[in-house]
Amino acid sequence: MAKIAFLGLGQMGAPMARRLLLAGHELTVWNRTPDRAEPLAAGGAVVAGSPAEAGAGAEFVITMLATPEALREVVLGENGLAKALGPGQVYVDMSTVGPDTVRSIAARLPEGIAVVDAPVRGSVPQATEGRLEVFVGARDEDLERVRPILESLGSVSHVGGPGAGAAMKLVANLVLGTSIVALGEALALGEALDLGRAPLLDMLAGSQLAPVVRAKRANIESGHYPPSFKLRHAAKDLRLVAEAAAAADRDLEVAAAARAWLDSAVESGAADLDFSAVVATILGETPQP
Ligand code: NAP
Repeated sequence: MAKIAFLGLGQMGAPMARRLLLAGHELTVWNRTPDRAEPLAAGGAVVAGSPAEAGAGAEFVITMLATPEALREVVLGENGLAKALGPGQVYVDMSTVGPDTVRSIAARLPEGIAVVDAPVRGSVPQATEGRLEVFVGARDEDLERVRPILESLGSVSHVGGPGAGAAMKLVANLVLGTSIVALGEALALGEALDLGRAPLLDMLAGSQLAPVVRAKRANIESGHYPPSFKLRHAAKDLRLVAEAAAAADRDLEVAAAARAWLDSAVESGAADLDFSAVVATILGETPQP
């Protein structure tokens, strides 16, 4: 069994870290808000006082953090991981931060560290049950070292070299963001044309948006949007999509429109609700927790 450090115990990180603990690994955890580490400590994890302390001596170091800014802070900041990492260790980032951040952080780490980007598709239930889809960007030999650990979290797709996993995840979340906004706009038009919400959702459940309707119908019908994937993160992902598209000189007009809706949902106070609360914003409703 491996010696693993896991940093970032949010909605996704906590159940992922728990799976590694249950698989029998020797686990050290760190979280900015220390209370969130308590349930894992009760399960046998060691709690570190700083990112550097967590990473020192671990064979594998995993980060699962909110944003590029948070990741930079944890890796490159005071008492950051970069101070502890050295040759022979494997560093895996699983956050959704985009390829530029992954590559720029990798370039600032000491020589001899294997760096793997492995962001995930799937939400809290999949994280809890080890059914995430893991998009890996890595050199072949680096992936083979970390594969058994990633496979205890879900299914592994090796999509290219370093940065490719982070890039694939941005494409996945472009689709996620535009789909939920398309659902909101379909309901907005249908209701403006005097169609009822239930028959509209029944029709949309047979459309190209079927998986979104299946996943989010209960939220939309109840008006309650408890967070599974926070809206602030979906807005962040569409920001990363816009930045990546601008850098590549691609004009993504649908993604830009989805971003505008998500940003206005954030401004209206829905940032910490589920990302599907953007449907309420489009419908002119106030989403409830
Ligand atoms: P979350 O519940 O909001 O947790 C975010 C984590 O980042 C927490 O551990 C938080 O620490 C930490 N953090 C935030 N800002 C920080 C900073 N400045 N310095 C240090 N730590 C900081 O998010 P999540 O849902 O677990 O998502 C984590 C990542 O996975 C995100 O990139 C998200 O886009 C991606 N993702 C999420 C889902 C999903 O369904 N939830 C699915 C796939 C991918 P505190 O506890 O101290 O706030």
